[in-house]
Amino acid sequence: MSAVYDKVALIGLGLIAGSISLAARKAGAANKIIGTARSAKTRAAARNLMLCDEIADNAASAVRGADLVILCVPVGAMGKVMSEIKPHLKPGAVVTDVGSVKQEVIDQVLPHLPPQVHFIPGHPLAGTEQSGPYSGFAELFVNRWWLLTPLPDSDPSEVSRLRRFIRALGANVEDMEPGHHDLVLAVTSHTPHLIAYTMVGVADHLKRVTESEVIKYSAAGFRDFTRIAASDPTMWRDVFLNNKDAVLDILGRFTEELFVLQRAIRMGDGEQLHDYFTRTRAIRRGIIEAGQDTDAPDFGRGPKSGPANRD
Ligand code: NAP
Repeated sequence: MSAVYDKVALIGLGLIAGSISLAARKAGAANKIIGTARSAKTRAAARNLMLCDEIADNAASAVRGADLVILCVPVGAMGKVMSEIKPHLKPGAVVTDVGSVKQEVIDQVLPHLPPQVHFIPGHPLAGTEQSGPYSGFAELFVNRWWLLTPLPDSDPSEVSRLRRFIRALGANVEDMEPGHHDLVLAVTSHTPHLIAYTMVGVADHLKRVTESEVIKYSAAGFRDFTRIAASDPTMWRDVFLNNKDAVLDILGRFTEELFVLQRAIRMGDGEQLHDYFTRTRAIRRGIIEAGQDTDAPDFGRGPKSGPANRD
């Protein structure tokens, strides 16, 4: 394909930026990809991996002359990074981000946005529990959703150009209002992560058990929780601190439902439990019918789980 952008700059070189670079290179979506990271260690790793065409020593030099700048740092660092690159952005450049929370990122970035630079916030709904420059792979976004939350004054031609770039990475693009994005993600991703962290924490408190039975007999449910609970602590701290209202809302509803089920168990109300689980089973069927997961038993892992199933 012909390149969608001439020069793309990636700020942060972890799982998401690494995967963007590899996917964009494979698709020929950019003529030049230049990346940078905060630490010399990550920059050196990215150079060794030849993750980008060039690794800059700082964000200011990375964004100079770039047509598209993608902020790939934790949600809480977006404003600081934007303030650093602000004086070096080319007029007409597009800045986007990949943060898992949208409204807070918009609030952090907008005060630093130069008048002739476009900001089109985004979020790829694709990831793994791995992080850092070694974790990226070109297929991460294939057939996954990538949500854009354009601002009311976003230039439609720049939005469609960014969509073309994202589609070249293999993803499906849809637009969403930022507040709605944050609520949807609180339900589908943020609160489930918190529950996984909590369940693994509960098992850890039962130290004696953890050392023996919990690990040895780790069945699918708990094993999946441990995978999710291995996700990057900085990224997830920032998600909860920056999507506070939506997560607390969903967590409140979750707690109410938990009490309902707790009471049904205490009262021996098998009918209520059966009805509840029948409804939730139908939701799982809906997800499979929508092509968002496989109906293979145990998520298609087979007897030994492997990296192919790490998403
Ligand atoms: P990652 O692998 O941990 O990489 C994060 C990068 O950001 C690293 O290069 C790191 O630099 C840099 N960084 C960390 N703190 C920083 C700070 N305070 N200032 C400047 N740079 C900083 O993270 P990731 O998984 O790629 O996530 C990046 C973004 O994508 C996050 O906003 C996250 O919410 C979003 N996202 C993640 C997933 C997922 O599943 N992982 C999915 C969708 C969206 P050093 O290595 O030099 O420390």
